[in-house]
Amino acid sequence: MSSSSSASPALRILAPDEPPAFEVVNPEGRSSAVLLCDHASNAVPRSLPELGRQHEALREHTGWDIGAARLSRRLSALLDAPLVLSGYSRLVIDCNRPLGSPTSIPEISCGVPIPGNTIDAAEARARADACFWPYHRAITALLDARRDRRERTAILSMHSFTPAMPGQDRPWHAAVLYGRDRRLAAPFLEALRREPGLCVGDNEPYRVTEGGDYGIPTHGEARGLPCVLLEIRQDGLLTDEGVEAWAQRLAASYRAIEASGVDLSALSPDAAAGR
Ligand SMILES: [Zn+2]
Repeated sequence: MSSSSSASPALRILAPDEPPAFEVVNPEGRSSAVLLCDHASNAVPRSLPELGRQHEALREHTGWDIGAARLSRRLSALLDAPLVLSGYSRLVIDCNRPLGSPTSIPEISCGVPIPGNTIDAAEARARADACFWPYHRAITALLDARRDRRERTAILSMHSFTPAMPGQDRPWHAAVLYGRDRRLAAPFLEALRREPGLCVGDNEPYRVTEGGDYGIPTHGEARGLPCVLLEIRQDGLLTDEGVEAWAQRLAASYRAIEASGVDLSALSPDAAAGR
């Protein structure tokens, strides 16, 4: 037989010797918090050399969330919380965007053209199969296992943002973002705003939406799990001391929220949908 059933051979994005598309840290962690880090890495698979040559875009916030992985690992250790990190740059495929959205595989990111991302549908599918789905399936498996063990679970989606955006002053040191479920966001805002000198955004500079986000709507809201997206301004995460201070602050805030008796139980799917 000379022809196969598919029109073109499957594109291989990740070579067997390259790092996996996700990492799970402390999967049996005892905390009720489960940490997600969608933009943990600025790695690019060798099969995408044009993208890999965009050194500046990869180094900056366009390529990843600077400091977010280090902060997430430290917070995971402090809380004894499971953590799932993505393995490749958001420029390969953004793990916090619905597939097919304009920013999923951006041809322009923050005004910077990304020529390596002018690709056809087959390559977009291949990138999703290689990098997007394995990461999200790992999260789903972790959450399913916790549900089966009847463990209480709250989702903390960990991000960092750039202090410099043309045309926008960004006074916030951190931001608490949410969509339909404010159960965690409200007490996090309260806790962080109690800290002297901290300016904390309430759903700004971004907000969580179903069209613009994937993780919170899918792993949090659709499952009825309390969920929040925490953004730390990246200049606060450039040193070991900065990372440690934020990890301690967030760990203390989360412990205080748990101790305060806020209801962090899962909602039924109906209640979650109506929220
Ligand atoms: Zn991010």
